[in-house]
Amino acid sequence: MSRLHQRVGQIGLGSIGQIYAGHLLDAVEQLRVFDLDQARVDAATGKGALAAASARELAAQCDVILVSLPNPPAVQSAMLGPDGILAGAAPGTTIIDLSTVSPATSREMYAAAAERGVAYLDAPVSGGAPMNGGVEGAAARTITFMVGGDADAFERAKPVMAALGQVMFHIGPAGSGSTIKLISNLMSGIYALVTAEGFALGAAVGLSPQRLVEVFQHTDAKSYFMTDYLVPRLLRGDLDPGFSVALQLKDHRLAAELGHEQRVPLFFNQLAIQFYELMVAQGRAERDVTEALPFLAAQAGVSLSDAAQR
Ligand code: NAD
Repeated sequence: MSRLHQRVGQIGLGSIGQIYAGHLLDAVEQLRVFDLDQARVDAATGKGALAAASARELAAQCDVILVSLPNPPAVQSAMLGPDGILAGAAPGTTIIDLSTVSPATSREMYAAAAERGVAYLDAPVSGGAPMNGGVEGAAARTITFMVGGDADAFERAKPVMAALGQVMFHIGPAGSGSTIKLISNLMSGIYALVTAEGFALGAAVGLSPQRLVEVFQHTDAKSYFMTDYLVPRLLRGDLDPGFSVALQLKDHRLAAELGHEQRVPLFFNQLAIQFYELMVAQGRAERDVTEALPFLAAQAGVSLSDAAQR
């Protein structure tokens, strides 16, 4: 595979960011990375990336910058801070922000970048065909991009994004990628809770998770988040994130803000906020969202691992 000649940088090497970095190292001649967590930088440099001392230094040395940060304040600080991207980026730089943030944050970043002649795309991601969710989709290079921003910047960004996934939708102007991503995660976070409720009831009446998923592959209850992400992770006992409860809660909160702005009542989103808030209060913030299944079952006094042995 011929490598891309652009100077590429990546900021944020978390659960999913470290997977992107691995793919980018295969696709580009040089990858510069930055994260506040030095251990994560060291892991990436151990695989061949170059370390930058700050987002500003990274930006000064890159033509295309990918950003994968946990929430709006982290993106604002990495973009606008005195040592941030926009303090270092030259005009003509393209920023591809893969983080899930509010549409208002995306529009604010787009405007700040435009003032400096820098292109900014909100390009959040989700699991895509062939039916892998989140980090597994990223590992399989099958994630879906939902992109907001200028069409010409989208065209320029495509070759770099193609190193991570092939399905790319240009939704519309700045903020529109973030908007559709929040709707997607509002729905998937609720699917996780509906799955948790159904599987707790199933366990209580003696049905194993394996039996339920076998049957639900063929019923109206089917969701690929259930069949291909939540239940396989549950059965392997793989509850490290992945996609953390903290991030799922953040996305429901951002969806609630959007619902408020648009005057759209979001009943089930509010329930999801309360449920994930409870999980965080009970020390589950840094568990994978799959933890919702055993957690809810435990509230009902049933054990999904016992049910899985039946
Ligand atoms: P994470 O919490 O695992 O990692 C975030 C990383 O950002 C950490 O390494 C942290 O040290 C670093 N960081 C925080 N603030 C920083 C700053 N100002 N400058 C530099 N580094 C900073 O998060 P993640 O799971 O990798 O997710 C990243 C983003 O992608 C989030 O917005 C999330 O909602 C979104 N997302 C994640 C998944 C998934 O499956 N994990 C799927 C789709 C979208």
